Amino acid sequence: MSIERVAVIGAGTMGAGIAQVCAQAGWDTRLYDAFPDGLERGMDRIDAFWEKGIARGKTTPEQRETWSANLAAVSDLAAAVADVDLVIEAVPELPELKQQIFAQLDELAPPHAVLGTNTSSLSITDIAAATNRPDQVIGMHFFNPVPIMKLLELVRTPSTTEETIATAEVAGAAMGKTTI
Ligand code: NAD
Repeated sequence: MSIERVAVIGAGTMGAGIAQVCAQAGWDTRLYDAFPDGLERGMDRIDAFWEKGIARGKTTPEQRETWSANLAAVSDLAAAVADVDLVIEAVPELPELKQQIFAQLDELAPPHAVLGTNTSSLSITDIAAATNRPDQVIGMHFFNPVPIMKLLELVRTPSTTEETIATAEVAGAAMGKTTI
């Protein structure tokens, strides 16, 4: 499956970094957070990273302009995920919260969308069980700081299909990550 639009849920340490690399990959990227100040902090963090890149000569102003145009802060979950191909969730490590979010994502995201979770330690099978598409749920475990760290661990459940894994592998490669 080709990816054009993605949503990142949770704009904290990990979510901001993930949204940044998604925007840099050229995708139409929506960053969502349940809290306005969380969303603002996440967008500010991304902008500061790009600013620093320009100051260090690692990023051109043109690149920043392109990446910035790919990225939108969205404060409504339905609007954030309405037409995306891939969702990556990075909310706090609380099982009930993740399950609640995945139930909502299942309702709101298009049927074809792959749902990834950045959980470090929770059961992805349990998170996937909150959806009617456990075959399209996969662990996408990034490392901090996301724009720097090259590794992306993909974690399958017994239900995750090869097609879902292939989509996550293609996504990881487009983000400049080495997937295992
Ligand atoms: P964080 O606390 O920095 O960010 C979480 C964000 O989620 C906050 O901005 C918060 O406002 C937002 N949020 C809270 N409730 C929400 C909701 N209902 N809907 C949308 N957004 C909501 O956390 P983090 O360190 O980015 O961790 C996020 C996930 O990534 C966790 O599952 C964690 O285990 C995992 N993880 C963290 C690291 C790390 O080094 N920090 C590394 C790998 C994986």
